[in-house]
Amino acid sequence: MTPAIILAVIGGLIYGSFLNVLLWRLPEGEGVNGRSRCRSCHHTLAWYDLIPIVSFIALQGKCRYCRERIHLRYPLVELAAAAVLGIFFAVRIPSLNIETIIDIFGLLILVSLFFFDLFYFILPDAIIFPAIGVYAVYDLAKLAHPLPYFLTALLAASFFAILYTISGGKKLGFGDVKLAILLGLIFGYPLGFVTVVLGIWLAALVALGLLLTGRAKRTDAIPLGSFLAIAAIVSIIFYHETFPFISLFR
Ligand SMILES: [Zn+2]
Repeated sequence: MTPAIILAVIGGLIYGSFLNVLLWRLPEGEGVNGRSRCRSCHHTLAWYDLIPIVSFIALQGKCRYCRERIHLRYPLVELAAAAVLGIFFAVRIPSLNIETIIDIFGLLILVSLFFFDLFYFILPDAIIFPAIGVYAVYDLAKLAHPLPYFLTALLAASFFAILYTISGGKKLGFGDVKLAILLGLIFGYPLGFVTVVLGIWLAALVALGLLLTGRAKRTDAIPLGSFLAIAAIVSIIFYHETFPFISLFR
C-alpha cells in the first residue's frame, strides 16, 4: 500500500463517519450540528467513542454507557467509503489535479446516495442538487464539448421520467430521474448510457436472485438508485483507461 492509498482509506473512514451522521439525521429533519449521542441511551458520545472502526472494535460493538449493541450500519458505511476511495487510488493512481478532486467528490456523493436509497428509499435533494450544480459548472468550464454531457443527462432523465410516469412512481422514484441527470453530467456519451444500463442490469439480477431464493416478493420495492450508484462508482474508478468494453462504444 502506498501512502496515497493509506491516506485515501483514512479519508474514506472519516467521510463514512460523517455520512453516518447524515444518514441518521437528514431523514429525521435534524441538522448536522450538535454532539453525537447513543441511539438507545442518548448519552453524549466522547471523541474516543467516535473513531471510525477503531471505537467499534474497542467497544466490541456495544455502547460504552448502556452496553446496547451499536448498529452494524456504522462500521459498514465507514468501511464502504474507505474501500471506494482506496480502490480508486489503487486502480487509477491519480495525480493531484482538478479531475481527481471532482472524481473523489463524485465517488463520495455516490456512496452517500447508495446508502440513502438502500436504507430509506430516498435520494435526498440536499445531496443530489448541489452535485448536479457542481458537475454542470465543471462540464461548462472544463470541457471543450459539454453538449453531449447535457444531452445524455436530458435523454437519460427523460427515459426515467417516462418509466416513472407509466409506473405511477411504483417501480422507481422521482429521485431516480434526478440521479439520471447527475449521471449524464458526470459521464456524458457513451459512458453515461453504459452506466445506466449497467445499473439497471445489476438491479434486475439482484431482484431475480432475491425472488428465486424466496427472500423477496414481486411487490417489494427495490432501491434502483443504489444500483445506479454502484454502476457509477465502477464507471468512475475504471474511467477511460481500463474500463474493459468502453472502447467498443467510441
Ligand atoms: Zn448507549
